[in-house]
Amino acid sequence: MLHYPLEKVLRTTKAHLLKLQKIGIFTVQDLLEFFPRKLESANTRTKLAEIQLGEKQTLYGILNYFRVEKSRRGKPIGKADLELSDGTSVAVIWFRIPYQLKNFQGAKKVFLVGKVDRNYGTVQISNPEVHFNQNVHVGGIRPVYPESPPLTSKWFREKINGLMVFQKEFDEILPSEILKTEDFMGKRTAIKAIHFPESLDMWERAKARLGFEELLAIQLRVMQSKLMREKIQQNPYKFGFDPEDIKKDFELFPFELTLAQKKSLLEILQDFDKDRPMNRMVQGDVGSGKTIVAFLAALQVIKQGYQSAILAPTEILAKQHFSGALKFFPADYSVECLTGSTPAKKKENIKARLRSGEIKVIIGTHAILTEDTIFKNLGLAVIDEQHRFGVKQRNLLGENLAHVLNMTATPIPRSMALTIYGDQDLSIIGEKPAGRKDIITRIVADNKTMETCNYFIDDQVKKGRQIFWVCPLVEESEKMEAKNVMEEFVRISEQVFPQHRVTYLHGKMKPREKDDIMRAFKEHQFDILVSTSVIEVGVDIPKATVMVIENSERFGLSQLHQFRGRIGRNDMQSYCFLMVGDKEDKQKERLKAMEKSNDGFYLSEVDLQLRGAGEVYGTRQSGIPNLKLADLHDVDGLKKARSWAEKLLREDLGLSKYPGLQAMVRSGEVFYQ
Ligand code: ADP
Ligand code: MG
Repeated sequence: MLHYPLEKVLRTTKAHLLKLQKIGIFTVQDLLEFFPRKLESANTRTKLAEIQLGEKQTLYGILNYFRVEKSRRGKPIGKADLELSDGTSVAVIWFRIPYQLKNFQGAKKVFLVGKVDRNYGTVQISNPEVHFNQNVHVGGIRPVYPESPPLTSKWFREKINGLMVFQKEFDEILPSEILKTEDFMGKRTAIKAIHFPESLDMWERAKARLGFEELLAIQLRVMQSKLMREKIQQNPYKFGFDPEDIKKDFELFPFELTLAQKKSLLEILQDFDKDRPMNRMVQGDVGSGKTIVAFLAALQVIKQGYQSAILAPTEILAKQHFSGALKFFPADYSVECLTGSTPAKKKENIKARLRSGEIKVIIGTHAILTEDTIFKNLGLAVIDEQHRFGVKQRNLLGENLAHVLNMTATPIPRSMALTIYGDQDLSIIGEKPAGRKDIITRIVADNKTMETCNYFIDDQVKKGRQIFWVCPLVEESEKMEAKNVMEEFVRISEQVFPQHRVTYLHGKMKPREKDDIMRAFKEHQFDILVSTSVIEVGVDIPKATVMVIENSERFGLSQLHQFRGRIGRNDMQSYCFLMVGDKEDKQKERLKAMEKSNDGFYLSEVDLQLRGAGEVYGTRQSGIPNLKLADLHDVDGLKKARSWAEKLLREDLGLSKYPGLQAMVRSGEVFYQ
C-alpha cells in the first residue's frame, strides 16, 4: 500500500494533487516521508494566568457572542468572546471569518489556535484557527511543514495523520547491529514520531535516526562506487608524460597558467600513469580556467594516439568549447562538434569518423551519449558540470575504461566536497588568473541610486559595452518567467533605454531561437539582453561588463555569484547591480557580502551560516543532494555514517544482504540526475 498513488487514497482537490506532484510527492510513502520543518507548541491554556502574551497558543474555552461587524473599509470582521475555565474572558477577532463559523450561534466549547496579545488593555486572540474537538492541530506539540500553496501545514497534518495507519508497512532497513550500537529507534516508530511525537525528545530521536539514513545512503553510494573502482586493475590508456613537452604546450596560450591550473594538470597527468583509469573532479569557481586544464589534458591523450570527448550540458556551451578547441588543438588533429541540432547526415559522418579513429577530439552535448556512438579508442572523457548528466549517461562513458575528468563550478566547502565527490579524486582551482579585476558590486535599493545606475549603464553602452539584465523569478513557472521578462523588456526598451538596442531571452523560447539570440548578442547586434536565468554560466561574452539582477534579495549568495560569473571573464572592469525589490534591511545586510567579496567559496560559507544547507543547496541544479533532515555539515554524523558504510561494504560490496539499503542507495541516484 505504500506505493499506492495518492489520488487513490486521499480525498482532496485536483489543485492539491498537482502541487504535490510538482514537489515530487506521488505515493503514500512519499507523503509519509515528507517531514515537518519544525514543531510548534500548541499546549492548551484554559486559564488567563497560563497565557503567554505575544505567542501563538491554543486556548480552550466557551465561544460566546459571535457576531459579524463591518470594518471601516466595509469588510466583514468576526468578533467573539472566549470564556476560560477561571471565569475570565478573552476577546477574539477574525479579519477573515473561518468556514467553521458560517452559521454559528449560541455558545460552544472550542479550541482556538492563534497569537495572543494585549490590545488596549484587553487580552485578545487574533485570527485563530477554530477546532471543535481535540484533534491533530490542538494540544501538545504539532508539526509545521514546508508550505507551498495550496498545501498548508494544516492540510499536511490532517492527511498525514489519516495515512498513519500505513506506518506499519515500513520495513526496517537498517541492520540490527546499527540500531543496537547507535541506540536508534525503529523505522516505524521514527515515521510516527517525526510527524506526531509524544515529546520533543522523541522528535529529536526520530530526526537523528532518519537523518542518519540519509547520510548513510550518501556514504554507501560514494564508498560503493569507490570500492568497485578500486577493483579495476587495468588501465588501457596508461602513459607517462614529458615535462618539457608540457611546457611547450603551455606556449599555445598568450598568458601564463595559474599555479592552481598547473597543479591540477599535474594531478591529472599523474593519474594517467596509474594502474586504473582516472576519476577526478576539478572544482573551480566560474572563470578560474578549468576548460584550459581539460584541453591540455586532452592534448596529451591525443598525442598518444587516443581520442578525447568533451561534454557540455548545453548546446551553447558545447559550441563555445568547440570554437576554443579549434583554436587550441594543432591543425593535424581533427576536432568535431556533435549536438542535438547537428544535421542527421553530418551526425552519421561524425559517428563513422569516430569509429575509424579519424576524429581525435569530439565536443558536444548529450547527443554524444547514444549507444550508436562508438569510439575507436576513447582515452579521456571530460564532463563539464557533471551533475547535469544522468548516471546512466555517465556510465556509458565509463564502460570502456576511459579516464574521466569531471568539472564543476559549484563552490562548496572542502569538507562537503570530500563527501559528495568522495568516490573521485579532487583537484581544486582556488585562484583566478592574474590581472582579473574583481567585479564591482553595488546594492540598488532606492530610486536615486537607480537613476545613477541607469546613467552609468547608458555611459557603458556608449563606450561599446554590453549589459546582461537578469530578471529571474524564484520557483515560478516558465510561463510566469516569460511574462515577467516580456514586461521588463517592454519597460526597458521603451522607457528606460529607448535609444539602445535591447533584446530578450526566456525559457519558453525554442532552443534554436535562444541560440540565435545568444549568437546575435555575442556578435554585438544588441546592447542589452533582458533574460531569465536561462543564460548559461560559463558563456563568454567578452564585451559584457554590466550585470543587473532584479529581485536579488530573493536569491542565495551562491546563486547570485553564479549569475555574476557571466561577466568579469577578462581584464575589463565589470560591474554588478543588485536590485532590491522590498527594502528589508536584513536582506540588504546579507547582500552586502556580495559587495565585499568575489570569492564563491567564501560566499557559500556565508550563505550556509545565514540560511542553512537546505536553503542554499535546495536546487537540483547544484548537484548537491537535497537532504530532508540531515546536515551535510554535520561532520560527526558523516564520519559515523562513513564508518558504518565501510563496514557494511567490506562484508558485502553489493549489499545483497540488505535489500532495503540497496534500494535506498539506488533510489538516491535521482539526487544526481
Ligand atoms: P571556467 O570554465 O573555469 O569558468 P574558463 O576555462 O572558461 O573558466 O576560462 C575563463 C576565461 O579565462 C577564458 O576566456 C580563458 O581563456 C581565460 N583564462 C583561463 N586561464 C587563464 C589564465 N591563466 N590567464 C588568463 N586568462 C585565462
Ligand atoms: Mg566553464
